Amino acid sequence: MSVGLVPTMGALHRGHLSLVARAMGECDRVAVSIFVNPRQFAPGEDFERYPRSPESDLEALAGAGVHAVYMPAVEAMYPAGLSTAVHVTGPVGEGFEADLRPGHFHGVALVVTKLLVAARPDRAYFGQKDAQQCAVVERLARDLDTGVQIVVCPTVRDGDGLALSSRNQYLSAEDRRRALAIPAGLAAAATRFEAGERGSAALIEAVTEKLRAADATIDYVAIVDPGTFMEVETASPGCQILVAARIGTTRLIDNLRLGSDAAPSAGAFHTT
Ligand code: AMP
Repeated sequence: MSVGLVPTMGALHRGHLSLVARAMGECDRVAVSIFVNPRQFAPGEDFERYPRSPESDLEALAGAGVHAVYMPAVEAMYPAGLSTAVHVTGPVGEGFEADLRPGHFHGVALVVTKLLVAARPDRAYFGQKDAQQCAVVERLARDLDTGVQIVVCPTVRDGDGLALSSRNQYLSAEDRRRALAIPAGLAAAATRFEAGERGSAALIEAVTEKLRAADATIDYVAIVDPGTFMEVETASPGCQILVAARIGTTRLIDNLRLGSDAAPSAGAFHTT
């Protein structure tokens, strides 16, 4: 009897449900966790106002036929006296998102470890959209000898190319239009890569040009080796181009695997 686990923070959208569908197709029993994890929000971030919709989430999960939903209270996940930390070191756990969101991956690593121990799944499902989180989780699952297979699922996008995210709810209509600079930038970089460009600087410039035109505030645009999260000067197929940018007050991340993911343009996106 194989068990699949899909960890989420709720406010479920088609991206989450694609992970659930994949797990349902591959596992005999599927558990979904819904936990807005306070420890993975950096100080001053949106923990309080993060979207929560437990009733419609439960309805969607019942519709998908999942076998168990785990919605622990914060005190159940983090009882008084809890003193154990799980830190993934090196560029995988310390660069990019970790730099900009202090403590973020410490929170992710601890909660994912606890969820893996609680559910003891054969497989756990994560979205490529959070590429660095996937790398952190793959690293800890291996390093801690969990025996859990980490399954990374493709990014689900809206029809216009914007990656689905619970935080898209924060965008005004105007900001949502500006946010399309992110998939447009990734698409431009993918096109240049397909045309033979391998210099990271030129590929990064293809993205930053679109972001600047939309007046986005760039946190980083980088090309990394997916296993180590070390930046590369010369891109090769499988390298990931990462984007983190702020549109007004909303921070969005996205990425593309060069040479393998379809460019995120309108009409070229995954649906469930
Ligand atoms: P979250 O609720 O934001 O913590 O996300 C829960 C899981 O869903 C994570 O593994 C995310 O990477 C994944 N996920 C979020 N958005 C998407 C998306 N647009 N496509 C695929 N997976 C996603």
